[in-house]
Amino acid sequence: MRRWIKTFDDDGSVEELGTKGHGLMAMNKLGLPVPAGFTLTTPTCAAFFADGEQWPQGLGEELDAAIAALEASAGRRFGDPTDPLLVSVRSGSVVTMPGMMESVLDLGLNADTTEALARRTGDRRFAWDSYRRFVQLYGDVVLGIHYTRFARAQKQFLSGRELASVDADDMRELALLLEGVVDKHGDAFPSDPREQLRFAISAVFRSYNSHRARYYRRSRQISEEAGTAVTVQAMVFGNLGERSATGFAVTRDPKTGVPGIFGEWKPQTQGDDMGTASVEAFPISADEDERGGSMEVERPEAYRDLVAMARQLEAHYRDMQAIEFTLEGDKLWLLQTSAAERTPQSAVRVVVDLVNEGVITKEEALLRIDPRELEYVLRPIISPDAKRKVIAKGLDASPGAATGRVVFEASECREHHERDEPTILVRLDTSPEDIQGMALAAGVLTARGGQTSHAAVVARGMGKPCVVGCTDIQVDYARALFYAGDSVIQRGDWITIDGGTGEVMEGRVSMLAPQAEVGSMADLLDWADEVAELKVRTNADTGADAERARALGAVGVGLCRTEHMFFQPVALRAMRRMILADDPRSRQRALHEILPIQRQMFLDLFRAMDGLPVTVRLLDPPLHEFLPEREQDIADVAQSLDVRPEALRARLDNLHETNPMLGHRGVRIGITTPEVYRTQVRALFEAGCELVREGLDVRPEVMIPLVGLVSELERMRELVHDVADEVIAEFGVDLRYHVGTMIELPRAAVIAGQLAKHADFFSFGTNDLTQMVWGFSRDDMGRYFSVYQREGLLSESPLSAFDEEGVGAFVQMATERGRATSPHLPVGVCGEHGADPAGVKFFHRVGVDYVSCSPYRVPVARLAAAHAALEA
Ligand code: ADP
Ligand code: MG
Ligand code: MG
Repeated sequence: MRRWIKTFDDDGSVEELGTKGHGLMAMNKLGLPVPAGFTLTTPTCAAFFADGEQWPQGLGEELDAAIAALEASAGRRFGDPTDPLLVSVRSGSVVTMPGMMESVLDLGLNADTTEALARRTGDRRFAWDSYRRFVQLYGDVVLGIHYTRFARAQKQFLSGRELASVDADDMRELALLLEGVVDKHGDAFPSDPREQLRFAISAVFRSYNSHRARYYRRSRQISEEAGTAVTVQAMVFGNLGERSATGFAVTRDPKTGVPGIFGEWKPQTQGDDMGTASVEAFPISADEDERGGSMEVERPEAYRDLVAMARQLEAHYRDMQAIEFTLEGDKLWLLQTSAAERTPQSAVRVVVDLVNEGVITKEEALLRIDPRELEYVLRPIISPDAKRKVIAKGLDASPGAATGRVVFEASECREHHERDEPTILVRLDTSPEDIQGMALAAGVLTARGGQTSHAAVVARGMGKPCVVGCTDIQVDYARALFYAGDSVIQRGDWITIDGGTGEVMEGRVSMLAPQAEVGSMADLLDWADEVAELKVRTNADTGADAERARALGAVGVGLCRTEHMFFQPVALRAMRRMILADDPRSRQRALHEILPIQRQMFLDLFRAMDGLPVTVRLLDPPLHEFLPEREQDIADVAQSLDVRPEALRARLDNLHETNPMLGHRGVRIGITTPEVYRTQVRALFEAGCELVREGLDVRPEVMIPLVGLVSELERMRELVHDVADEVIAEFGVDLRYHVGTMIELPRAAVIAGQLAKHADFFSFGTNDLTQMVWGFSRDDMGRYFSVYQREGLLSESPLSAFDEEGVGAFVQMATERGRATSPHLPVGVCGEHGADPAGVKFFHRVGVDYVSCSPYRVPVARLAAAHAALEA
């Protein structure tokens, strides 16, 4: 009974054989041309390590038997001096770790067998080329001689000649020279093929535990125990004569998903040349062929075989495959198949096409896509094969890649914008003053702040690539430059940021444009809506945002932050006047200025959301957020408002709070300064009534933030009704509306049963609720959170990954208590957790009606809602 080895005719799992071994077994059974071989299983590797790097009992005998069987099927013998069998020894673990482990090719060669190979093939140059390859690979992988030593020796030997121009005798000389490098730097080179094989197998086992492989597993949370399988397989030769070649093919375009064969081939090479830039590659299909040399044109028959086999493999795996092949003369051999790596665009297109081709079900298509990937589909991404120099890494705040010239002041974004030049706005952190610059920048990079910092939230709302909390950079405003490691980046220099990974790169890195045709994603999301129960609304403050979100499938606005209108300079000035007013009359005057601007904003919003609900939150942030902070800005603002800077500073001192997050904000403004809320409500209903007159279907929902007392809500509800009914009466139209509350204080969640008596709906502001439940502020948590992460206390911030256990308990309790009072109470979640797939699952479970998130995340939430329903 064999314990450690399986042949390609046996059965076995991926866990046992690794993806490579399992794929070879599967291809063999499909009748595809695979060189004969066998696989040492992953438990063999585990046993090897468990025994202190000793071969487990019985493996030696099994290997002898397996080799004997391989010799029989190949019709040649290992080490035979007339017709030697050569093999490759290939690593292959359960989770693919590209480039992390080792493989040795052409094993079985020595000076004698090389001459035998030359005689048999009639190609002496090829034989010594193979030996040269073997010596280098074996020397590197098994004997640990750094490949640069070989490269150096080879370069010296060639002294300017191309390897391709070297004849058989010189190739022999070169191979023997490299063998000499081995003898000089390591143990003597073993000439006995069986000894070579044993050492190579052990070395491949060991490569599983190399530094880089361990690091790779750690960085991707791949389990350590599994070990690697090792496949021993008869060699086929892509370097044998002019008609031989090696190649790599993907069954659809890995960048876009467009069907067709993509990939490259390299005539007269072996597999170890595939990753070498110095050997020229040609495209496989004629479509991609700009300068000749495609496989489709050069080798039409082999190409046809490849296409047919690719189809067969796709049909078997029901997924896009990446295939390694070798052409030996006219015979095509398959050496590996695996699920192809792909961009998010391609991933979506592929599953939708597979459904349309009848290969997979809609449900499978939905479940195959990670909802978070959808956020990238509409953004440019870094081209997978682009050269890049990463100089710093921060938090991946808003995905997509952007390239631009570095600027440090928001005002500079406009200057560049007018010249049609993209910019990356680099700041320590951003504030409302920077909004207009951000809107014009291609991307935003900040040294400070977390996933919910101003820069991150605003950039996500704008759909703008953004990296925040990049502590690797030191920004020096005064000298208009930043440092990142050894690099100094000056104002005007080009950089590239990747908001999906947090990487900051020097120069302009090549990118893939977002898929113009979003057809596939639209189809996928239609299917998602068919199964989802949770509805998806959007957080939008402007008509443009709302329109964008509606196009992406949002069925309403779940959160309009009214303060966003004050990013407009005129509105901001009026707001500042209002805040600085010392008497009711001048305050009222300022509010009069605000009213029409606010009304216009509601007009845009309601128009964009004709027929859909729009939830408007009355003013929430503390008033001091509207006032300048920087000394220079204070002077400017004082001047523009025509007040003395001292007066402004005095008012600032007066508004200063030690703990603004727990301060004078939300409903507290409504209680202390009701005129502000009254003005907002009037603007809202004037806009609504005007549109009703035009025949639009307006569905306003007025939302009171930060409520903790029943009486707060009672009072505000009365205020809203008073003003709304007055305006509706003035217009003489019929407009129905709702008044509800946010649940963002733990107290509100506890008294939800009573609040429900005065609320037409609840909406959980999970950002604030999380901060309040945890008792920390997102603006300050950076100082200690990194330690929590490093020490393993918390892996992710509860502000980005919804905290089911803590915050979730409040959401569930409030929903239950609210509905105990009012059984059909609509309940929503606004806050970025609305697009966190794990959060969405939880909200689905506790009976939330809708989630609301930034426009670009609407697709994420829609798919997450479908996953939640399918997995329930
Ligand atoms: P990796 O996991 O790094 O891709 P592989 O084991 O797939 O390593 O081998 C490296 C290269 O050698 C691949 O291009 C593969 O196709 C090629 N190769 C492996 N075994 C053979 C063989 N028996 N005959 C010809 N080429 C081979
Ligand atoms: Mg490799
Ligand atoms: Mg491979």
